[in-house]
Amino acid sequence: MARASEDFMRLQSGYLFPEVARRIKAWQERNPGRKVLRLSIGNTTEALPPTVAEAMKRKIDLLTDRSTYTGYGDEQGDAMLREALAEHYRNEYGVDLPVSAFFVSDGAKSDAANIQSVFSRSAIPAVQDPAYPVYVDSSVAGGHTGDFSPALGGYSGIVYMPATAGNGFIAEPPREHADIIYLCFPNNPTGAVAARDELKAFVDYAHREGSVIVFDSAYSDYIGNPDLPHSIYEIEGAEDCAIEIGSFSKNAGFTGVRLGWSIVPEAIRAEDSPAGTLHRLWNRRQCTFFNGASSISQAGGIAALSGKGREECMDLVRYYKGNASIIRTGIESAGLRCYGGTDSPYIWTECPDGMTSWQFFDYLLEKAHVAVTPGSGFGKAGEGYVRISSYGHREDVEEAVRSIKENLG
Ligand code: PLP
Repeated sequence: MARASEDFMRLQSGYLFPEVARRIKAWQERNPGRKVLRLSIGNTTEALPPTVAEAMKRKIDLLTDRSTYTGYGDEQGDAMLREALAEHYRNEYGVDLPVSAFFVSDGAKSDAANIQSVFSRSAIPAVQDPAYPVYVDSSVAGGHTGDFSPALGGYSGIVYMPATAGNGFIAEPPREHADIIYLCFPNNPTGAVAARDELKAFVDYAHREGSVIVFDSAYSDYIGNPDLPHSIYEIEGAEDCAIEIGSFSKNAGFTGVRLGWSIVPEAIRAEDSPAGTLHRLWNRRQCTFFNGASSISQAGGIAALSGKGREECMDLVRYYKGNASIIRTGIESAGLRCYGGTDSPYIWTECPDGMTSWQFFDYLLEKAHVAVTPGSGFGKAGEGYVRISSYGHREDVEEAVRSIKENLG
């Protein structure tokens, strides 16, 4: 008889967003005809940059004509897009990586999970707490952990690195050994961005322990402060111990279009295997289980990295950052303490009067009709906070902030 995966069965049920939806629905039933003002979603809302949209339309025209039609492309991605990505890293971050290190994908979420497959089952994962849930869930599904422990507030076998107000929401490298270190800056959910020396501490740890960093840079374009690094490869020594994962979702509005990339340099070493092994295994994994990202999305990605496309993408980023600034100023004037939202689309807000994340969620919904995301859903250390998202139409964001100020201030 076929047996279900023991590793998947170990996953706790996806509680956070279904529970948010359930509470919103219950509120709506109690308040018919009233609108919930949503600052909870991490989903983009504004139209595609015109240059990017035009490039995708042109690609569809080519696909519509038999003489210019193309089918499967290279599993690693369109050569032009990989070259454009390498150039982007060179021009914008001063990082020189070979084109062969870049692998195009359908998004950072898949890469963050799939990258587990190149590591031994015995590899110990480490995550920041709170964290984007995919790092933990893919570690569990990948067989790297034990069971969830309600007492621990996490899974046995995962090293949790607390990111708290005490350390400015930048976790320190763990005291114990870990093999795969997930980092994400600008961070979802806290909005914190690590400085160079803070990332250097992780690179030094990885060298010392023979670990590999998986650096999620999905929000890197939100960094405005010129002193903050956008890519882990801006840190000396990262090329032989770090993988980076990037996305077109939050700067080009590709949350629905789908396109991302991973960087796995040949120089990366693992404890038991020479440089080149992880690169080769990742290439093997992608060629075996992935048939390449959509050719239409990739045409859009090339345009997004072109001069005009890049300007338009940054306009989009500025729009959401404008929302973030309105939210942060507004909620601070309502007396709430918050973090992030300057080099990030997320504002990490402390729950007032000792409320738990869910208590403050309910309070905001009842008092101001505003929905946010409870911080405890991102990990134990997220308790006592909520994540406020800047993804939304400006007028809706303004209405939500007005409501918070009027009803809480
Ligand atoms: N990484 C982080 C930290 C995210 O917050 C998200 C989406 O919210 C993703 C990755 C997903 O990116 P993609 O849409 O490219 O799969």
